[in-house]
Amino acid sequence: MKKKSKISFSLEVFPAKTKQAQIRFWQSISELKTLSPAYFSVTSSGESQANGSTKELTLKIKRNTNIEAVAHIVSINQTVNSLRELARDYYASGIKRVVALRGDLENGDFSGQEIKDAAQVVKILKQEGDFDISVAGYPEKHPKATSLAADIENLKMKVDQGANRVITQFFFDPDVFLRFRDKAYLAGIRVEIVPGLLPILNFDKLLIFARRCQANVPNFLHEMFADMSHQSLHHNLLAMNVLSHQVTRLIDNGVNHFHFYTLNSTSLTFQICRWINIAF
Ligand code: FAD
Repeated sequence: MKKKSKISFSLEVFPAKTKQAQIRFWQSISELKTLSPAYFSVTSSGESQANGSTKELTLKIKRNTNIEAVAHIVSINQTVNSLRELARDYYASGIKRVVALRGDLENGDFSGQEIKDAAQVVKILKQEGDFDISVAGYPEKHPKATSLAADIENLKMKVDQGANRVITQFFFDPDVFLRFRDKAYLAGIRVEIVPGLLPILNFDKLLIFARRCQANVPNFLHEMFADMSHQSLHHNLLAMNVLSHQVTRLIDNGVNHFHFYTLNSTSLTFQICRWINIAF
């Protein structure tokens, strides 16, 4: 009989836009489901939430895979009333696990928004149903936060409103996560903090992404991936090494659930999760 791993993981995906991307998406899902993830989570843009594609996809993944699927709910461009309606609609459709987020506006100006932060989103969701709610945490602080301490205070407000767990922004140095977890604990946050890990599928693209999120990319990674095409086998092997180092260090420090940003690709996520299932 197959040993049940003590370590679980969830896999984040996003709604694919083109026909071709959708075909690839379902191929990835059918491979990834064989790893028995705890759940798939489906991101939302304001657009995919408004046109129903996040909801539709979440329900379809659940139906097609028999694996739990979790929808991200973002509050940008929602009023309190429209968010209440959305929450009731999700709950009635059977989506009772969500990730509650504020989301981003291109101009960064939230003054015209009725809902200004994710703590308010959590509060509204909890009033509308017995949702299981995850919220976002930032081990290296949110780019707009004045300090890590202020950001952790903001995180505490989300937890105080009833969030059940925190999923973090990606990071590369496991010690950054461990220090953040300690600080959150000292600030009175007692829910599980799940590390969000981003497989390095393409180091050059990752640098752009990391700059936007202000996630530090340690020097050793720059050295490791210098002048290396993301299509080379070495790139893939090195990236797997980085991931397995992160996972091992975190498991050694009590982490038993990981959240992987799959970028809708099976590459690396499949390898690391298969390894987790067998090794732990
Ligand atoms: P909040 O917790 O409200 O706060 C964000 C920052 O603003 C914090 O630094 C906080 O300290 C500060 N802040 C909040 N309120 C105040 C205030 N009143 N005064 C001063 N500062 C304040 N984005 C999407 O669009 N779709 C997704 O599906 C999505 N999924 C995500 C999943 C995860 C796990 C993570 C980590 C992020 C995700 N994001 C997503 C990105 C997220 O929407 C952005 O990072 C956004 O800028 C902040 O959202 P939040 O929910 O963390 O907001």
